[in-house]
Amino acid sequence: MEHQQMQDILNKQKAFFIKNGPPSYDLRIDRLNRMKTLIMDNRYKIVDALHADFGVRSKNQSMATDVYTIIPSIEYAKKNLKKWMAGSKRKPNFPLGFLGAKASVDYEPLGTVGMISPWNFPMFLTFSPAASIFAAGNQIMHKPSEYTEQSANLMKELCDAAFDEEEFATILGGPDVGATFTQQKFDHLLYTGSGAVAKHIMRAASENLVPVTLELGGKSPVIVSNSTDSAIAAKRIMLGKTMNAGQICLAPDYIMVHSDKKDELVSGMKDAVGDFYPDLKHNDDYTSIVNQKHYDRLQGLLEDAKEKGAVIDEINPANEDFSQQEAFKIPPTLVMNPTDDMEIMKEEIFGPLLPVKEFTEIDEAISYVNKNDKPLGLYYFGSNKSEENRVLSRTSSGGVTVNDVLGHIQQEDLPFGGVGPSGTGSYHGEEGFKTFSNAKAVYKQIGSRFDKLLSAIRPPYKGDIEKVLKQIT
Ligand code: NAD
Repeated sequence: MEHQQMQDILNKQKAFFIKNGPPSYDLRIDRLNRMKTLIMDNRYKIVDALHADFGVRSKNQSMATDVYTIIPSIEYAKKNLKKWMAGSKRKPNFPLGFLGAKASVDYEPLGTVGMISPWNFPMFLTFSPAASIFAAGNQIMHKPSEYTEQSANLMKELCDAAFDEEEFATILGGPDVGATFTQQKFDHLLYTGSGAVAKHIMRAASENLVPVTLELGGKSPVIVSNSTDSAIAAKRIMLGKTMNAGQICLAPDYIMVHSDKKDELVSGMKDAVGDFYPDLKHNDDYTSIVNQKHYDRLQGLLEDAKEKGAVIDEINPANEDFSQQEAFKIPPTLVMNPTDDMEIMKEEIFGPLLPVKEFTEIDEAISYVNKNDKPLGLYYFGSNKSEENRVLSRTSSGGVTVNDVLGHIQQEDLPFGGVGPSGTGSYHGEEGFKTFSNAKAVYKQIGSRFDKLLSAIRPPYKGDIEKVLKQIT
């Protein structure tokens, strides 16, 4: 789609908004309900499209991660919308409040939010933020990822049927279309994807001073204390790491385990994979890598680590041969004793490879986290409260889950987002409503009855103005 066509849609959305004013509570609820219906009525088509896009995408997992996990975002917004829309009364400074002035914060919609979404959870990362965007009373222009083409086509078909173009418009295409998309004068731009592309997004948005929310990724560490139950930790880590074959922004990226627990944890992780997936190659519950490009990238990370001295420990419960296969599956693979010069310790892995480092003092793990960019998520396993507090207070990350992985993203009442290089801004719950609203300051001055009192601070100034200022400040 050309620049002019996108601009026409945006102008149409803006004209609609100005003509009708901010959408009422009822209209916002109606939009959220239509979104829920389109997802639930088409859930089997959704999981089929995802399966086709990935080669193998666990339909059971898709039903959970790209259908049912969206519903709490919609329901939570519906439940709290009245309260959020009410805004809040504030206290005007003394003595004007005392004399009848009023102050409040009114949350007004921004207008049209541009939304660029990635391929790893095409539906979830479209409709979960869309719940916040609609709740806040905005319209949406959406550009899904070109990598998951069938899912993108399906989203367009379903959204075109459920919404007017003035409410939700889908624009299909790859990076070229994405680049044109980011040149539009949106009222806000939400981008979910890699940090590398985020730099282009920010640069383009800066031309029109369009505010951005960036949902990025990074290397989310797992710290396993010597106070942890290794078998439980191993199961939870591997469930998170093997889901979507590790193609998750919040996937455990690398493990730092206390030396006393290393052997137990490693054998627990192998057992866990065997329990979840007795075989992998023809098992439709084990998802494949999305395409050849990412498959080659991950194989490259393994080769590089091997060359530089890492021990590669593939977890292949049925001992299958992956050299000939229809999809791009990679078995869960531990990379033992990684060093900082290895590419796998420099870039976000985004696949089923899992480096395992050891530490003996918790501060070693803390300073390793602090040497790197602030991650999207951080996971601490252990029952030592003071150690847990030390880890949480001496590291910074978008979010934290203790004694599990990924858990904080499932909490609707918690903001989801990164910090610094892992992202800017957040959505979910009330924070999502606020991200896509303008917190408008409204001040109503005292009436004419007391207007004379203001003459003390108006020209022509009489006497010592400081005397008056001291009294009123
Ligand atoms: P990506 O950055 O390659 O692509 C994301 C989107 O940007 C796609 O729709 C793509 O078409 C578009 N795009 C690409 N080049 C563009 C350009 N120059 N201008 C405008 N748009 C452009 O990311 P990806 O590979 O789809 O996703 C993987 C990354 O996303 C990982 O880093 C992961 O951690 C991150 N991610 C973050 C979250 C989160 O919620 N924080 C969720 C999922 C993925």
